[in-house]
Amino acid sequence: MALKSIAVLTSGGDAPGMNAAVRAVVRTGISYGMRVVGVLRGYNGLLNGDVMEMNLRSVSDIIHRGGTILYTARSPEFNTPEGVQKAADNCRKMGIDGVVVIGGDGSFRGARDLTNAGIPCIGIPGTIDNDIASSEYTIGFDTAMNTAVEMVDRLRDTMESHDRCSVVEVMGRRCGDLALQTGIAVGATSILVPEIPYDFQRDIIDRMTFTQKTGKKHFIIIVAEGVGGVDKLAKDIEQATGIETRATVLGHVQRGGSPTLRDRVVGSQMGAIAAKKLYEGYSNRVIVMRGGRIVDLDITEALNMKRVFDKELYDIALRISI
Ligand code: ADP
Repeated sequence: MALKSIAVLTSGGDAPGMNAAVRAVVRTGISYGMRVVGVLRGYNGLLNGDVMEMNLRSVSDIIHRGGTILYTARSPEFNTPEGVQKAADNCRKMGIDGVVVIGGDGSFRGARDLTNAGIPCIGIPGTIDNDIASSEYTIGFDTAMNTAVEMVDRLRDTMESHDRCSVVEVMGRRCGDLALQTGIAVGATSILVPEIPYDFQRDIIDRMTFTQKTGKKHFIIIVAEGVGGVDKLAKDIEQATGIETRATVLGHVQRGGSPTLRDRVVGSQMGAIAAKKLYEGYSNRVIVMRGGRIVDLDITEALNMKRVFDKELYDIALRISI
């Protein structure tokens, strides 16, 4: 049965490109003759009735903006059976027949629970970490990688001038994709990711010493947030090599900024497909990228998938960063 009225919300950590997805949901929904409302601050907006009616112009001038015009939040109240029930009751009161949820795995668990409570939901992966097992790509990842590369390039200029070593922490608590891609793009001597345990001597010092012998004078070590400890690492490297070493944590700058072309396009595609799927009566699905194509999967099936780290690319990184 075709739905008449849908909502869109952004939940969990924000990511550049979420606005492109919101825009696509709103415009696609309206083009199918549905009423579309924007829910503010993630699931909190459903609990508090904090929603706004959207029209074609509500999403003008946002495709190039970072963050999310709907704001985002983590909602401990929603993460309880009573919270989910209250959100579902409020949806019925507000005449919301279905919800597009843009966020990470946690937000998808919420979408599954809300579907089970009678409100059909469709998820879209939005997180800069690229840490969603079911999707090769998550909205925001490309922008975050490009920001990290730009920042490390700047550090490199000054490191090069002083023959120093730079230890840089990039985001990625459970997932080393951002570190791996950035590490390759900046020519890092070592890349430390949560998926692969490292040995200080073998994976950092020996590699630095080897490249030093062939004439390298400045070094970049990229460390994923999930590995952490960059201050201590910098001290230990300086002690072991005598090379002046500085630690930098890039932090939240990686979350912001104008989305890249890729995040605008993928966000638009996923948003449009999600709204169409809801209109067609599908529910409990996530829109994901697999084999370079955008497809939909059952949320529960998607949540049960295990992430596979790209070991082949990691090995290439090690081979060429010498
Ligand atoms: P992300 O979506 O980026 O993984 P979180 O894990 O913080 O971010 O989840 C965002 C929100 O989704 C939470 O604040 C909560 O309201 C909801 N959520 C998370 N996990 C669950 C769960 N297991 N069941 C229901 N809702 C959940």
